[in-house]
Amino acid sequence: MTLPKCELTRREALGRIGATATAALVANNWVKMSQAADARPKAMIWDAHGHLGGARSPEESIARSLRYADRMGIDRVVVSMGMSFVYDPSPEELRRQNDEVLRAVRFAPDRVFGFVYVNPKHVKASLDEIDRCVRDGPMVGVKLWVAMRCNEANLDPIVRHAVELKAPILQHTYLKITGNLPGESTPADLVELARRHPDASFLCAHTGADWERGIRWIRGVKNVWADVCGSDPTAGMVEMAVRELGAERVVYGSDFPGRSFASQLAKVTSANLPETARRLILGENLRRLLLPILTAKGIRA
Ligand SMILES: [Zn+2]
Repeated sequence: MTLPKCELTRREALGRIGATATAALVANNWVKMSQAADARPKAMIWDAHGHLGGARSPEESIARSLRYADRMGIDRVVVSMGMSFVYDPSPEELRRQNDEVLRAVRFAPDRVFGFVYVNPKHVKASLDEIDRCVRDGPMVGVKLWVAMRCNEANLDPIVRHAVELKAPILQHTYLKITGNLPGESTPADLVELARRHPDASFLCAHTGADWERGIRWIRGVKNVWADVCGSDPTAGMVEMAVRELGAERVVYGSDFPGRSFASQLAKVTSANLPETARRLILGENLRRLLLPILTAKGIRA
């Protein structure tokens, strides 16, 4: 049996050499680029939006989340609400859930920021919880979920008290095709509230999930920041938020443990952005939002 002759023409040979040389050049440049990226100081990463759950205790839950955070280079995380999610918590339930967050904060005080969970249907109990957990305790922000739409007047005393304590407010917002829950806020509701309280700082959680509409809604209201957490890591989301709001008003959050740090971080790390913008979004903006209350409380930041 004879093997087929394998002959290269001059043209093929030159083409192959050329391709190899180009590949080597590309590889060499890529190595240089990644070395340059490695040489950059590591960005500070603070996660604006996280929860507890899927474990036997708050300590076990936060320990696991912090292990994953370590893998992704995340320095600090915001945690709110307890081990189970309750749409319309009673005053007793609020206390129970906030106690669980206090346990998570105590477990890792250098890395976990607690936001106190309140329900505007119970204004007095909510103000008491803010006093217990923020004024007299280690928490540094306020979390509102789906008990009541946030444009209601019940929110006003809660927001005023948060302002007195320099605590930013994390408000859940969503736009569901199938219709929101009765008490579930949209970014438009948050815009109404934020216009009534220009001295308060609001994080628009999930940027409404339907982020193309959410970003446009909050665009003109300077005391609302886009928290890009939750929902799928769609390409272009963070770029649009930066284009419309400016990088100073976009904040990274994940909604862990319901969402992975990796998928949510990818929205920011893979976005086409100048490095300065990426750093603002990954941590510097949240630090700036929290700095007044951290300073007032003597918390290192
Ligand atoms: Zn959440």
